[in-house]
Amino acid sequence: MTWRAPWIGVTAGAPAPGSPAAGARPGYCLDAGYAHAVLAAGGLPVVLPPAVPAAADAALARLDGLLLSGGPDVDPGWFGEDPRPGQGRIDPERDAWEIALVRAALALDLPLLAICRGVQVLNVAAGGTLLQDIPTQVPGAWKHLQEAPRAYPTHPVRVEAGTRLGALLASARGTAPAPAAPLEARVNSFHHQAVGVVAPGLAVAARAGDGVVEALESPDHTFALGVQWHPEAMWEGDGAALALFRGLVDAAGARAAAREG
Ligand code: MN
Repeated sequence: MTWRAPWIGVTAGAPAPGSPAAGARPGYCLDAGYAHAVLAAGGLPVVLPPAVPAAADAALARLDGLLLSGGPDVDPGWFGEDPRPGQGRIDPERDAWEIALVRAALALDLPLLAICRGVQVLNVAAGGTLLQDIPTQVPGAWKHLQEAPRAYPTHPVRVEAGTRLGALLASARGTAPAPAAPLEARVNSFHHQAVGVVAPGLAVAARAGDGVVEALESPDHTFALGVQWHPEAMWEGDGAALALFRGLVDAAGARAAAREG
């Protein structure tokens, strides 16, 4: 019997120059947590380094789902802004590739989970903007660049009622069906950028108490969800984090089954 699992494309990128991940030769890097979480949810991770944007449709034609991983800042030119002083490292090749992938995935209704930089790419690809630097652009903002272990949740988010995210979290807590009222979750936080103007077609699914957007989803797609936190660092001890990957892999599996008839 053949082993079968939905194929989940997982984006990767170049390490920051001078970082421990940057070796003597050019390479790509991906935290193993993304691959481990996809495997734990029943999917097969397929690592996607940046390619030419024109290859996006061809890549997705062979995949059942897409996972956008964390990484550096998006070039603000993609949303029509000049760089502010707080702007961080940019990877132009990765920006172009991931934005093409997201646009193709949305057009195909391919299941999509977008993490940290990923939710920012999702919003920009769909026509939204970003806050280039929370500390300098959001008065009274919380600390979103935590100094604590990666799996440790340092701030709460309010998850909107009636959202896919709310339903996933409720099912992980054994309180399904989805609650009629907002629910609270605690998340980790490793970002200095955030969603600005929300793209047409996307809806805010969660916010921090300082107003910063922490999750987006598309009500018009089978599964298109982005979170600003890092569930790939939390899933081993947090059923709600694992539920996000299960949601992606389950939607990808259903799509694969339907395609194969
Ligand atoms: Mn945060």
